[in-house]
Amino acid sequence: MAKTASERPDYSHFDDLLTPDERAFRDRVREFVNARVLPRIAGCWEDGTFPMEVVPGLAELGLFGHLPPVHEGLASFELERADAGIRSLVSVHAHLAQGTIQEFGTQEQRERFLPRMGRGELIGAFSLTEPAHGSDPGALEVTARPVPGGYRLDGHKRWATNGTAAGVTIVWARLVDHPDVQGATGARAIRAFLVEAGTPGFTPRAIDRKLSFRVSASSEIFFDGCVVPEANRLPGVTGLGSALKCLNEARYGIVWGVAGAATASFEEALSYSRVREQFGRPIAAFQLTQSKLASMYGAVVQSMLLALHLGRLKQRDALHHTDVSLGKLVNVRHALDVARTARTVLGGIGILDTSVSLRHAANLETELTYEGTDEVHQLILGRHLTGLDAFRG
Ligand SMILES: Cc1cc2nc3c(=O)[nH]c(=O)nc-3n(C[C@H](O)[C@H](O)[C@H](O)COP(=O)(O)OP(=O)(O)OC[C@H]3O[C@@H](n4cnc5c(N)ncnc54)[C@H](O)[C@@H]3O)c2cc1C
Repeated sequence: MAKTASERPDYSHFDDLLTPDERAFRDRVREFVNARVLPRIAGCWEDGTFPMEVVPGLAELGLFGHLPPVHEGLASFELERADAGIRSLVSVHAHLAQGTIQEFGTQEQRERFLPRMGRGELIGAFSLTEPAHGSDPGALEVTARPVPGGYRLDGHKRWATNGTAAGVTIVWARLVDHPDVQGATGARAIRAFLVEAGTPGFTPRAIDRKLSFRVSASSEIFFDGCVVPEANRLPGVTGLGSALKCLNEARYGIVWGVAGAATASFEEALSYSRVREQFGRPIAAFQLTQSKLASMYGAVVQSMLLALHLGRLKQRDALHHTDVSLGKLVNVRHALDVARTARTVLGGIGILDTSVSLRHAANLETELTYEGTDEVHQLILGRHLTGLDAFRG
């Protein structure tokens, strides 16, 4: 197996498919992750905290600014090789929060928020999901009512990544009693608002007792008469479709990220199988172990190639949202299989926090569910293939 500059195996000469600039960028992110992120993960997982001290370094790498699609994907791969919580912070901050302001905000809003967000001085969150509305966000219930000079938000959100750490949260709410949404029902009455930390009536609260995504600030948010000024409404938002457009960007990062989690799990199983002896031989010498290694290797290579294919499509503006659904569906399933299989190769020590595969498998349970569940992406692809909508069938 060929080795990369940073002495990691290069599956199927994947690096040959990258440009010198892409490889150099990937190696910079890889070195940062190896030196600054990986050593902190086990402790953060145990404590259920995010290592905020790595944020300035992530900003210096340019991860909070615009990147070409393959650069962005390679960064997601490297970050999730450490932990999905790290990739998710970057994804929500850069793609869901900064991306929404860039796409749907005014020039004044861009100037007010994006420079500080780009430097990592202000963290962003994106709050769409509610306790009663996950897969069907078009039915969300948080309301935004006009008051003199702005809007009053009321209701309850759940699962906002970065919620308790964020200086600004994009909140998706149902606009009521306003001429802009007269006659509009359901998803067409949804609008977005920028809520700044410290606004009275805005209360984010950490969700604890998590068995997955422990290195991530997952939050509930309560709105009780929270008033935001007119200047904090995102005027370009015309309904739920605006939120889905941003989510598609973040899902693209998952396609690459989970390939990173799969790679870390596979590499852990491969190296352990060479040193662990049973029945007088390394377990790598048993055919059943080699069968597992071959399957994992195949899944890792397929995932990376699919991610790169989608990246190249995105580069020439030819990536359809159904391509992203395919990548998210297939690569998460592959990664989950790899992480679980890797854990079996480790035997009993695979359940200790000194091993990584079970941590990745636990994170991948979240990734199977968030940003469109496995089932939702099957329905999207089913509709794409047949022309028939089975969401309510
Ligand atoms: C760690 C974590 C971080 C998250 N971060 C964010 C965030 O930053 N911002 C945000 O807004 N949200 C976030 N989410 C929320 C996430 O997107 C939702 O959990 C997801 O959309 C699923 O919603 P739900 O949990 O309510 O499940 P439900 O929608 O209740 O689904 C339960 C089950 O029913 C199935 N189901 C639903 N509808 C159908 C159907 N039509 N046909 C067949 N099966 C169906 C689902 O596939 C699933 O298996 C996060 C979630 C987690 C766990």
